[in-house]
Amino acid sequence: MKTIGVIGGMSWESSAEYYKLINRHTKARLGGHHNARSLMVTVDFAPIEALQRTGDWPALGEQLADAARQLERGGAELVILATNTMHRVCEAIEQAIDVPFLHIADPTGAALRAAGIERVGLLGTRYTMEQTFYTGRLRERHGLETRVPDEAERADVHRIIYDELCHGKVKDDSRAVYQRVIETLAARGAQAVILGCTEISLLIKPEDSVLPVFDTTALHAQAAVEWAIESA
Ligand code: GLU
Repeated sequence: MKTIGVIGGMSWESSAEYYKLINRHTKARLGGHHNARSLMVTVDFAPIEALQRTGDWPALGEQLADAARQLERGGAELVILATNTMHRVCEAIEQAIDVPFLHIADPTGAALRAAGIERVGLLGTRYTMEQTFYTGRLRERHGLETRVPDEAERADVHRIIYDELCHGKVKDDSRAVYQRVIETLAARGAQAVILGCTEISLLIKPEDSVLPVFDTTALHAQAAVEWAIESA
């Protein structure tokens, strides 16, 4: 099995999920006492989050490129970035390293297409829902039409991620807000919903949603393990 390198810390709540999922999937695939060969570089989310708010994506790209180089120097043979939002700067990461980088939208897009989905709702941070780096990739590489919540709903979805989920707070009233947003996306023609932020699966489980759920955290972690096993 090859060594998986994870850029984590955005937030560490979801990085902990990645760690669990990567090892669980490895054990499910290889059995016995197997776990994944892996490294994680954890960045400090406070300055990252501040730079997101000021829109300084070039500075963010440099910081994450440094983290990716650190992983490569440590022996990572694949790099993954444990946040959807920061894929805004994935080119900076890809240019900084010689080992492959597995984009979070790709296993998600492939799983949606395999399930026959063409129109999908997207929940995530404002950056992920409103900028084109994510919906554009889903359209261009996977032929998916994306529906995002309206302005007021996007504000709620974003606030709950940063003020609650990134601090490990999982609240019933926030789950109800997300459930209503998913119902609205279904009424607007979405056939499934992408949990396009790596903390949302802490709040929304498949049984909480009227639409089939595609969880980027689980799909990304699983795809990294498959790559690490298959390419060894
Ligand atoms: N983990 C989140 C995501 O998947 C949000 C935190 C961040 O801004 O990176 O988008």
